[in-house]
Parts: sequence; structure tokens; C-alpha cells
Amino acid sequence: MTDDEADRQLRAYFERYRNAGIEFIPRPRKSPEEKGAPPMSLLTQHHTPSPPVSDRHQALQLLSEEVKACTKCKELAATRTQTVFGVGPLDAEVCFIGEAPGADEDRQGEPFVGAAGQLLNRIIAACGMKREEVYICNILRCRPPGNRTPRADEAANCRPFLERTLDLVQPRYIVCLGASAANYLLDSKLSIGKMRGRFYEFQGIPVICTFHPAYLLRSASPEPRRQVWEDMKMLLTRMGRPIPEVNRRSS
Ligand code: SF4
Repeated sequence: MTDDEADRQLRAYFERYRNAGIEFIPRPRKSPEEKGAPPMSLLTQHHTPSPPVSDRHQALQLLSEEVKACTKCKELAATRTQTVFGVGPLDAEVCFIGEAPGADEDRQGEPFVGAAGQLLNRIIAACGMKREEVYICNILRCRPPGNRTPRADEAANCRPFLERTLDLVQPRYIVCLGASAANYLLDSKLSIGKMRGRFYEFQGIPVICTFHPAYLLRSASPEPRRQVWEDMKMLLTRMGRPIPEVNRRSS
């Protein structure tokens, strides 16, 4: 790596965390091996160090407080019961991104807790994971009245919150649920049927797009469910995780 490349990577690294609300990154403790290493050793490694989890956790907490006070979308701020921030651990292997809170989420203040959330839980379980292990959030943090589709200006207003959340959570993979999530995250206008079935990338994170669980609940056809499972198997394969036997038989 040249000095210019190293300098560019370091600048991008610090800018990313400044955007995420982290102003101070403590110096990492050196391991015994590193104590004898030359000062430039960090620059020649193929990864950048992360701020400690406690700092990111605190920054995420501050971000959720900022979201609670947000009134950028006047209509949504006037009609919401409360804002709905993401849930899940830092460094989650997978982050599921939906469209916006519905009535149940608006009432409870947590994403994907209604009928669609129950189905998402079953999809997560079918993949051999637990809801508590993944991160779950939405394009919007406020419920659109009558569960209408988020408008482009609302998605643009809320995007910095989404990007800062992803910067802090640092998921290894992202799953966009439904066209709104896929279109707004990846800046696309394609239908979800055309977007699913392949990998994309968002800020270096591999992304797949699939149908929203609410669509699966509305659909009389089993085909979308089969396609969601195909998408999840594609993700599990990329993650190097086994495909649970029971689902391999039923797929
Ligand atoms: S949807 Fe996002 S940007 Fe709009 S008012 Fe709610 S928190 Fe603010």
C-alpha cells in the first residue's frame, strides 16, 4: 500500500465515525506482539480498527435520542405515537431493513412486532438464527398514516439516521425487505421481483433484496415464499452457514 492510499483510507475511516457521531476514538491497547511492531504496522494491515463496542453503543443511544426529537417529516411527526428505532446487537451478522413502522410498531416502539414481524421471526429461525442475534430496522423511523408507502422526501430525510445506524452497528450482511427498502437503500427503481436473486453492495456490505413478509402474508400464492427461501439460502451460502435440513426438504 502506498502512503497516499494509506492516508486516503485513514481519512475515510475517521470521516465515517465522525458522521456516526463518534468524535473520540481511544488508542487501542497493544498486544504483546504489537508492542514490538513498527509504528506503521497498522497502515499495512488489510483492515481498519473499530472503535470499542462501548463507544458505539453509547453513540447509538445518543442517535436514538436524536431520532426521538426529529420532526423533519412534518406529517409523520404529527401523527406518530412514537419513533421506532432499530433493535439488535452491534456487529450483528445480518441487518434486516424494512419499509416503515406499522400500527403495532408505532404503538410498541419496536420494528417488526406485528404479524409481519412474527413471520420475519420464523424466516430468521428457519435460517438457524435468533431474532436477538440480528439487527432489525426500517427506512423510516416514523409510521406513515394508514401505512402508506414512504415518500421519497421522507426516505431522504431519514436516510442519515439509517446510514449512521449502519455505521455504528456494522452488520456483515444486509437484507432489504420489500421494494421500498431495496429502492431507497440502493437508489433503484426496479421492482423487488427484478432486484431479488443477486448480491449488491452498500458501503462495502453485501446486500440482498427479497419480498417483505407483509407481502407474503397477503399473497395467496406459495411462490413468493419459495423465492424468499431461495434468497435466504443464497445468503446463508455466502455467509458460510449451513442450510438447515428441515428447510432444505421443504424448499
Ligand atoms: S421518518 Fe425519520 S426523518 Fe422523518 S420525522 Fe421520523 S425520524 Fe425524522
